[in-house]
Amino acid sequence: MQVRVEGIVIRSMDYGEGNKIVTLLTNTHGKAGVIIRGAKKIKSRHGSLSQLFTHGEYLFFRNSGLGTLTHGEIIESHHILREQLDLTAYSSYAAELVDRALQEEDASAFIYEQLKACLNAFAEGKDLLVTIQLFEMKILQAAGYGPEFGECVSCGNTVGAMALSAHAGGVLCSRCTYKDAQAFPLSESALKLLRLYQRMDLRRLGNIQVKDETKQQLKGAMRLLMDAHIGIPLKSRSFLDQMDRYSI
Ligand SMILES: [Zn+2]
Repeated sequence: MQVRVEGIVIRSMDYGEGNKIVTLLTNTHGKAGVIIRGAKKIKSRHGSLSQLFTHGEYLFFRNSGLGTLTHGEIIESHHILREQLDLTAYSSYAAELVDRALQEEDASAFIYEQLKACLNAFAEGKDLLVTIQLFEMKILQAAGYGPEFGECVSCGNTVGAMALSAHAGGVLCSRCTYKDAQAFPLSESALKLLRLYQRMDLRRLGNIQVKDETKQQLKGAMRLLMDAHIGIPLKSRSFLDQMDRYSI
């Protein structure tokens, strides 16, 4: 069967002599594995289609399992994402989240649009942390772990200070915080942003100004949520942590 998709390369690995196997996140077919024959040859017309983060149109034959590329056109090569260390680190994390943390049935057209917008935002120089946090929120929601930030998950209270309880799946008010010893206190501005992340589509991300202090808090909050619900050790995540530690 011939399949034509728009896709983004979320994984690329060598296969046999000169070939590559890529995993695409597509607009219509979820995640798809495709063999690109001769991709590693210098003169290959298809070489650039096999590079990580490439956004393109892919035409391939598939009966079951892996497809074989017959034709492709690059829409956006995103070479800057492969050339600048910090951009590579963040883009790799976004791609690995889709590759490893999302079930096949959760890799929807919406997530495709969110990943596309996420990579575009990185390439356009938008705030890396805000962008990746927003993307993490979309992944949590797609995987069925969208947290509740509107009211206390225990008693429904909507006023006063709130703390995040990853295991309770949302915020706890000051009366209920005792129920989770690991509850993470949120400032008003951090909570506001988390609520924004929850309802915002990445395609509408502008240039948000967020104070460093709030960003650090959001980082703690998102980490708790990701560890509690996704919990897969990702290589790209450890690399981001290392970059942080040594301020590369
Ligand atoms: Zn409460």
